[in-house]
Formats: sequence, structure tokens, C-alpha cells
Amino acid sequence: MSLDVESLRKDFPIFETQVHGKPLIYLDSASSSQKPRQVVDRMVRFYETEYANVHRGVYDLSERATAAYEGARAACARFVGARDPRSIIFTRGTTEGINLVRFTWARANVKAGDEILVTEMEHHSNLVPWQLLAQEVGASLRHLPVDDEGLLRIDLLDEYITERTKVVAVSLMSNVLGTINPVRALADAAHAAGARIVVDAAQAAPHIPIDVNELDVDFLAYSSHKMLGPTGAGALYGRLDLLEEMPPFHGGGEMIREVFPDHSTWAEVPHKFEAGTPNIAQAVGMGAAVEYLEGLGMGNVRAHEKEMVDYGISKLEEAGAKVYGPKDISIRGGVASFNLDEVHPHDMATILDQEGLCIRAGHHCAQPLMRVLGVPATARASFYVYNTPDEIDALVGALDKAKGWFA
Ligand code: PLP
Repeated sequence: MSLDVESLRKDFPIFETQVHGKPLIYLDSASSSQKPRQVVDRMVRFYETEYANVHRGVYDLSERATAAYEGARAACARFVGARDPRSIIFTRGTTEGINLVRFTWARANVKAGDEILVTEMEHHSNLVPWQLLAQEVGASLRHLPVDDEGLLRIDLLDEYITERTKVVAVSLMSNVLGTINPVRALADAAHAAGARIVVDAAQAAPHIPIDVNELDVDFLAYSSHKMLGPTGAGALYGRLDLLEEMPPFHGGGEMIREVFPDHSTWAEVPHKFEAGTPNIAQAVGMGAAVEYLEGLGMGNVRAHEKEMVDYGISKLEEAGAKVYGPKDISIRGGVASFNLDEVHPHDMATILDQEGLCIRAGHHCAQPLMRVLGVPATARASFYVYNTPDEIDALVGALDKAKGWFA
């Protein structure tokens, strides 16, 4: 069974909106996804009937709020195959999750002379934190190259992972190329060298089934807003034994066991990493997004996007566009970055906007990858559960119009 897109689109009130008097065609979910009514309603119900601070009150309402918040944690654990909800830390999103690892595990374990391996296709969120750490402790950064097809040069792993490597930081799916990386192979190589692997799953989590045990990863970060949930929430999975030995991230209320004038002791995992009042309603909304996606079935989500990206690439190429990334859709997610010789990506996005079409144009927070591709920017159409082949036809029709403008 694949997705019943016509019927699930009714769950998304935004599609009743018009843009410049045209029906909205939203092809920018890799940037942020739209939200189904079920997620919005869950948050409204939470605020209207269950809201209080969590983990503090002994009164019934606070216990209900805590149950909703912790229920969301259990959903986020289940979503990535984590066996114990304590291995999920709520964050503001992928960026914060990666920075948490940088400031805790990595700061305690990466020393002068050590190496951090990233890849040429990383989003700035999984590159800049490691640059900062390398500068701070005197470690060096290495970049696993990407080949002409948009695949990681796994054949070079022996050269790039050495006894000095302490961290391997890699995205499970590229936000530009759509490439789904062989993270298990990277995890095995990292572990064989005594290193830890940190996975950026911002793009993968919304689109492909994930099992942290099968991937054998140490840390994996993802964002709610890209997977039908609200902004301001995200989850960081960490291996429990690592989380337990790690120092805390932020200091403050909630993350302590006992506080003395000159020192403190820490709460149990995961609370040790959640200082202050968390984004409670956002976490509950993220849990509702997980439940919505589970209802669709992540296998069905993936199958739908394979069809969409396959159709999208062939139509864009027919229209004369250069599409970046692997052609093999078994290792590609629902992202199509492209360029048309005649039209600058920013002009293209502006012209398409007049047709009600939302696409992204720019460097997609991956400037080093743009240099590897030899372009300053690309246009990017990205697909999700609510997109249809008709919308790809509309995109290609609008591109023809754009070409006409510059002919
Ligand atoms: N990593 C990748 C691959 C992304 O595409 C993004 C967002 O575009 C991020 C990290 C950052 O996610 P967030 O802005 O939700 O922290």
C-alpha cells in the first residue's frame, strides 16, 4: 500500500491557502515541512487542557503534562529504533543536538593533535561546530570527498580514518544531493579506529525509516519541524553509556540532583541535559508528528518519495535542467537540486513564486559542497508526503515560462 495523497492532503489546512491568487504548491519541505491538523490540534489540546510545567508539580495537572512530555520522548525513541527513551534528549533541533555533542562528549574527549572527520557534503550545522571544536582544542578537521555522482568516497575510508580520528560526523541524507549515505559502513570504520560517530539525520528522519541499532551509531540528531512537527523541538539520540559518562551541557534548574554553594551533582540521564523549562508543547507536538508518520508508515513515506523523485528528476532533465546527486533512487531521498543554464536560481525561485510554487534557491547551508559542485547556488525542489506528480508537472511548466523570460 502506498500513500493516499489526495486524502492525506486534507489534513493540511495550508493547502487551502492561495499564493498570488494561485493554489499553493509547496516544494520546500527539506527546508521545513507543513503541519497536519492532528499536530496543531494536539498542541492546542495540550495548552487548553493539560498544560503545566513538567517534572515539578505534585498536582494532577503537572503529572498530566509530564506524562504527555515523556510520552513524546518515548515516541521519538521508537521513531529511530532506540530501545530506551532515556537515550533521547529533547533539543531545539538538529543544530542544537550536534552542538550538544560538541560541548559535552567531544570537548571531554577530543584533544590537541586528534582528527575529526566530516564530509564534503555536510550542512553547516554538522561542519561549523566541528571547526569551532578543532580550533578550541587544537585538533584538525578532515573532509571525506564526494565523487562526481554525489556519493561519498567510501573507498578512501582507510586513508581518512586513522588512529588519530576521534569523531566521524556525517549526514545520513544530504539536503542538497539527496544522497543517502552508507552510515553503517562509516560507523564500523569509526568504531574499528576507536572513534565515535555523530549522525545528522535532519533530512533522513522525515523521509526514511531509521534504526539506530542497525546503523550502530553513537549519536543521531533530528528536527521536528522538517517531519511535520512544530519548530523549537528536536531530538538527540545518544548511546546510554556515553550519555551517562558525559558532562552536562547547560547548567540550571532541572538538570541537577543536589546543589551546594560551590558545586552541584547531576540529575539522571536524560534530564542532566535538559536544563531549565523545556519547550514542552513543542515536544508534545513532535510526538504527535511521530504518531502521524507512524500512521502513514515510514515504508510508505519512503516509497512515495522514491516515485516522486524519480519522476521529478526525469521531468527536470527533460526540461533541460542539470540535476545534482545520484541517479540511483534506491540511495536517494526526495530532494532534487538543479540548475538551468539560462536562469539564475534566485530569479527562478522568484518567477516560480508568482505561480504559487515554493522552491528554495541558494547554497542550502552547504557552501563547501557548492564549491565542489563548481556553482555558487542551485535551485532545489523537495518532496514530501503531500506532494503529487501534478505538482512536478506544474513546476516544469513554470520553468519553461522562466526560460521564456530569459530567451
Ligand atoms: N542538517 C541538514 C542536512 C539540514 O538539512 C538541516 C536543515 O536544513 C540541518 C542540519 C539543520 O537543522 P535545524 O535548522 O532544524 O537545526
